[in-house]
Amino acid sequence: MKAEHKTYEINEYVYLCESKIHNKGVFALRPISKGTKIIEYKGELISKEEGTKREEESIKLSKKDPSKGATYIMEVDEEHDIDGDIEENYSKYINHSCEPNCEFEVKGKQIWVYALKSIKPDEELSCDYGFDFDPENPFQHPCLCGSKKCVGYIVQKEQRGKLIEHLTKIKLLKK
Ligand SMILES: [Zn+2]
Repeated sequence: MKAEHKTYEINEYVYLCESKIHNKGVFALRPISKGTKIIEYKGELISKEEGTKREEESIKLSKKDPSKGATYIMEVDEEHDIDGDIEENYSKYINHSCEPNCEFEVKGKQIWVYALKSIKPDEELSCDYGFDFDPENPFQHPCLCGSKKCVGYIVQKEQRGKLIEHLTKIKLLKK
């Protein structure tokens, strides 16, 4: 473990520490093999209706003050969401990456973080947060993941084509 930063051991696999990507991050304590169920995305199980309401409220907040209104709502199924905005949910510190080494998976009414590949000690855990590309507000969430495949903004893999198309159009207009 790195001694220069304050670290907090979360469980047998991971610790919490300052991140190069953003704010805090979750790092591997030891080698983690592909497919390992690493940590639960804990939170309050709420109805979809309540989840949508809370999400809309946080979007309103973030429009007034971009440093506020981060949303930790994740979908469980058609009727339920989990609001991960609770103190004991360390998974909320996992940063987005355009080339993630972990993924969220729903198990019953729980959400867990699984290793997508083998992870080395002190490597930061990352997930694709599945943000939609919003043509009205395409540059809302800059991505600092630093991977070779980084598209510069936090957008889910399936919709990165739309973002790249949008960026190309802007470049063409500027010429
Ligand atoms: Zn990125």
